[in-house]
Amino acid sequence: MKSRRTFIKKAGLVTVWGAISPALAQSGLATTTQIPVMGAEEIGFSQQPLPYLYSALEPVIDALTMEIHYTKHAAGYTKNLVDACAGERVDTSKIKLTELLGRISTYSIKMRNNAGGHYNHEFFWQSLTPVRSGQTNKPSGSFMEAIVNQFGSFENFQTQFSDAARNRFGSGWAWLVKTTDGKLKIGSTPNQDNPLMDLSELKGTPLLGLDVWEHAYYLKYQNKRPDYIAACWSLFNWEVLERRYKNA
Ligand code: MN
Repeated sequence: MKSRRTFIKKAGLVTVWGAISPALAQSGLATTTQIPVMGAEEIGFSQQPLPYLYSALEPVIDALTMEIHYTKHAAGYTKNLVDACAGERVDTSKIKLTELLGRISTYSIKMRNNAGGHYNHEFFWQSLTPVRSGQTNKPSGSFMEAIVNQFGSFENFQTQFSDAARNRFGSGWAWLVKTTDGKLKIGSTPNQDNPLMDLSELKGTPLLGLDVWEHAYYLKYQNKRPDYIAACWSLFNWEVLERRYKNA
C-alpha cells in the first residue's frame, strides 16, 4: 500500500476554492488554498471534508443542494456503513474499502447500499471543481487521446455518457471506467452500486461518476435531469480524472 506521503507527492497539489474544513469554509474564513485531491484508491471509511464551499459549484449546483447532499445524504451513508461494519464484524483498519466493495455480495444489503453510497459520494466530490471562467473544461494529453480513440471524439463521449446518465431508470449513477484490458467504458449502475462491486454488471476502475439520484438535482432542476447532466460538464475536474486514468 502506498504511503499517504508518497501518494500526495505523486498526486501533486491542485488548487481548489475552499478550505480544509467545511465548518471553517462555511464560516467565511476560507480562502483559496492548496490541498491534495485524492484519487479513488485513497477513499477510506470516513467522510472527508468537502474540498470546496457548498456554494462553490453554483450556478450549476446550488449551495442548499450541496449542503443537504453532503451533510444529510452522504453523511448518512457513511454512518450506516460504520454501523454495518460493526454489525458484520468488518475491521476497517484491516480491509480497504475497495476490497470490501470487491466482495460486496458476501455482505448484507445494508452494507451494499451504504458502502456504495459512501464510496460513490466521496468519489463524486473529488470529481468536481468550481467552474473556472475563461478555461476550457476538457481533458488533455494522453487521456484526451484515449477518449478520442475509444469514442471517436470528445463530443461523442459526452453524448454517450450523458445518455447513460439520462437513461438510468430511477436512482443511480453514470460512470466512465477503465477496464482491466485498459479500455474506457461508459455505463450506469442502479441505486448505490458501483463498478468496483463484484455483483455489478459494469466493472472497472471508476474515473468519473455522476450522481443522478433526484436528491442531487431536484431543488434546482426538478424533473429536468437532462439539464442537470448537461450543466455538470462544466464541473468535472479533468486533472483528477486524468490522474485516476494514469493510476488505474
Ligand atoms: Mn447522492
